[in-house]
Amino acid sequence: MLRSIDLMARSQSLVTNARGEYAILSRADREALQAGRLTSEHARFHDLLALGMIERPGGGGVGLEAAAERTRKAFLLDGPALHIFVVTLRCDHACGYCQVSRAATGAEGFDMSWDDARAAIDRVFEAPAQALTVEFQGGEPALRFDLIERIVLEIEQLNEIHRRNIRFSLVSTLHHLGHDELAFCRDHQIHISTSIDGPAPLHDRQRPNPTHDSFARTVESLARARAVVGHEGVAAMPTLTRAAMADPKAVIDVYRELGFASIFLRPISPYGFARKTRRAIGYDMGAFVAFYNQALQYLLELNRRGEPMVETYASILLRHIMTPFGSGYVDLRSPAGAGLGVLVYNYDGQVYPADEARMAAESGDRRFTLGTVHQSFETLMSSPAMRWLATGAVAEQLPGCRDCAFVPFCGADPVYHAAAHGDPIGDRATSDFCTKHMGLFQILFGHLAEGDPETLRTFTAWAFNRARDEVIDAGYVPQ
Ligand code: SF4
Repeated sequence: MLRSIDLMARSQSLVTNARGEYAILSRADREALQAGRLTSEHARFHDLLALGMIERPGGGGVGLEAAAERTRKAFLLDGPALHIFVVTLRCDHACGYCQVSRAATGAEGFDMSWDDARAAIDRVFEAPAQALTVEFQGGEPALRFDLIERIVLEIEQLNEIHRRNIRFSLVSTLHHLGHDELAFCRDHQIHISTSIDGPAPLHDRQRPNPTHDSFARTVESLARARAVVGHEGVAAMPTLTRAAMADPKAVIDVYRELGFASIFLRPISPYGFARKTRRAIGYDMGAFVAFYNQALQYLLELNRRGEPMVETYASILLRHIMTPFGSGYVDLRSPAGAGLGVLVYNYDGQVYPADEARMAAESGDRRFTLGTVHQSFETLMSSPAMRWLATGAVAEQLPGCRDCAFVPFCGADPVYHAAAHGDPIGDRATSDFCTKHMGLFQILFGHLAEGDPETLRTFTAWAFNRARDEVIDAGYVPQ
């Protein structure tokens, strides 16, 4: 089955097939191809035949389609590979976009008990994946570093029997990580991720802390952390509010000045803050797509000038577009990552299929609860909430998506659609998830259609996660 879409601001169309191959054609050629009128004399005939866009006489493409599907969806065999422990909801910051997901530092009843943590560890090892990531979140998880240490040591001990490949990560402001905590992270290979929202005035306004010096303390803590865990041991990402939309360069330049080689540009999550705050800091998804377009232009220019700076979300989308493999990214896959790729163990012992589901639950929407950490993995995975979310988990079957040319590279987000539209299927016409991806795919395919060699070199490097100078020719990376 061929799907097509016209590329914005170009006189060309994109055509894709179920193998995840794509071709950019003139509109006349696209029409001829879809009507079965393209003859063997046409300059693109053999190319399109090889891509599986034209049926071979006598068929024979079905095996290739199945093989491509197996490669792209290999993540399905793993089950949930990402296990998030919300060790505490307490935090000393008061970020406007995180109102429902934090409690005051002195508040009681917002820390995970050891009994719940120990049960959650059992759930981690019940998941079938050989490669597992255990992530610590909050609140500010460093406020319960003692619990993090205990969980890590317990997992490491149990893993002497289970023999899994386990990676740890910690999402933290860094402010409460002293030398001893950082040394523990280094010794147990806990990768650290932090938040930097942009230049100091913007960051301090969005992420207020009690001493009103959030940016300065983050920069100071970053240097302290890098000195112990190494430069590559700490990553950062911004939360992009309306205030950041005006100047993408300013946000990117902060990351350059702090020595980061990548930035992950994500729109603000629709969960986690009150309606009034949303009016103040939220924005239309179209504004984000415009921001992203400008930001990408700037990043491409930096790369062209020899400064390798990666936009992480583009690298995920380009991996879907330019390689036969999935990215493993749980927020953009089909079947969706909710529950099938991620499990979240909340501080109160409840289990959720995604961090967004946890935040929706904190706002009072309890439909997403899979059960408690004391229930077995099988019970959680066959819970009514999982069965409900499964109705919107396969993009290729969703109204709107099933005919969309971007669907081989896109994903499904039943949690977002259930929270925003009332049911996991949702409505693509009013979906921010869809508006964002339509916009981003249009931008990326616009560049691919333009074919500027420098842009293609950067895109190839990003898609294959290789250095730009390793790309011999755009589209070719040595093995
Ligand atoms: S979410 Fe939108 S862009 Fe993605 S496959 Fe569905 S219709 Fe296409």
